[in-house]
Amino acid sequence: MAIDFTLAPEHEEIRGRVREFIRDTVVPAVDGLGDERTADRDAYLRLIFGLRGKARARGLWLPHMPEEWGGMGLGHVALAMVQSEAAKTRLGPWILNCSAPDEGNMHTLLHWGTDEQKERYLRPLLEGTRMSCFAMTEPEVAGSDPTLIRTTAVQDGDEWVINGHKWFISNARRAGFAILIARTEPDLPEGSRGANTAFLVDLPQRGWDDVREVETMHGSTGHSEIVITDLRVAGSQILGGRGNGHRLGQHRLGPARLAHCMRWISQAETALDMMVDRALNRRSHGSALADKQGVQWLIADSAMELYQCKLMVLHAASKIDKGEDFRTEVSMAKHFVANSLNRIVDRAIQVHGALGYSTDTPLASMFQHARWARLADGADEIHQMRIAERTIAAYRATGSTNAATGGLPL
Ligand SMILES: Cc1cc2nc3c(=O)[nH]c(=O)nc-3n(C[C@H](O)[C@H](O)[C@H](O)COP(=O)(O)OP(=O)(O)OC[C@H]3O[C@@H](n4cnc5c(N)ncnc54)[C@H](O)[C@@H]3O)c2cc1C
Repeated sequence: MAIDFTLAPEHEEIRGRVREFIRDTVVPAVDGLGDERTADRDAYLRLIFGLRGKARARGLWLPHMPEEWGGMGLGHVALAMVQSEAAKTRLGPWILNCSAPDEGNMHTLLHWGTDEQKERYLRPLLEGTRMSCFAMTEPEVAGSDPTLIRTTAVQDGDEWVINGHKWFISNARRAGFAILIARTEPDLPEGSRGANTAFLVDLPQRGWDDVREVETMHGSTGHSEIVITDLRVAGSQILGGRGNGHRLGQHRLGPARLAHCMRWISQAETALDMMVDRALNRRSHGSALADKQGVQWLIADSAMELYQCKLMVLHAASKIDKGEDFRTEVSMAKHFVANSLNRIVDRAIQVHGALGYSTDTPLASMFQHARWARLADGADEIHQMRIAERTIAAYRATGSTNAATGGLPL
């Protein structure tokens, strides 16, 4: 039985190139611009699109897409190291064109789109000439249960008329199109998985009113509230077939959740590096903080958790690569990495004292961003519910919970 955590030489080479590009080109360029909220908008856009051009010229573009679609053709294990290298800086994944929500939408279009839809919607996403959003969550009903959505699509001849209300739609203001989930089968009872359908909606569009960007605890936004009134789309804009909206959403979220984990690992590692650096360079009561047992425990707990995060992500990624059922492993990874990220950044702030609470280091911003990880793309409790269901089912089926703990030979 082969358990080998070393990367193939060609993947090691790619990892080195991503690391170098992010460290030597992206970070200095973005730092040089200062605060992105107050930077000159045109200069900012020129800079980040210029960096995209450089990434593409170096072959560091679309690591998650097959080569025949212009991607790097990496499996999920190899992708883990590219995503985590890229996420050393917040804009990194966007510059490599592998950031949410476009990344998940690309997978979705590749899997569910017709040839015509792929040319019209997937192709420009891959080229980086268009951006997209995914519109499912609604303020009036629990986003944790997408079978409850109230946005309706009613057939009218060859067209569908859509009415409803969405919010927290990331990237909506920059998007050239949305994948919108609406209820098309009103007669099906609550909880039915066949009641929703996905539609491709070109933006901007009459009937799609972006009423505000919701201000969030990380100070900036990018997540829109949308009122949809008599928006008309052709029947050919259905993505993945009528009644498949729920399945499509779940299919989209599997690899997309793991890609989040890959990026969060990078953030957690940055926080741990900072924690150790500070502990080595700050003295109190006669010795460095790194010599205090109380601080060592914070470091040790963080190191152990980060190690678990990495193993969980690599194992879940290897299951996806092998075509095995990965739902439980991805749920466990999503829950564990999101919570570890929050704990590790919090400990790093603790070791930095007042400096950690200030905005002089990136830790405060990392902490604010980390919080959403525990509730978006499946809240903690939803993943716990699914993990428990599958653990109980495994026991019922086999008399053992082994299959629900990664199916590992232990
Ligand atoms: C930064 C950010 C970006 C987002 N981007 C998008 C996007 O691009 N497109 C989009 O459609 N949505 C997006 N969302 C919305 C996100 O997917 C939802 O917030 C998420 O699905 C949870 O739905 P909700 O907010 O309605 O919470 P609710 O479903 O109301 O749940 C609230 C809380 O109740 C608890 N809970 C709910 N159900 C159960 C249960 N069955 N058992 C136990 N506890 C439960 C959990 O603690 C949960 O956190 C984004 C959210 C954030 C924060």
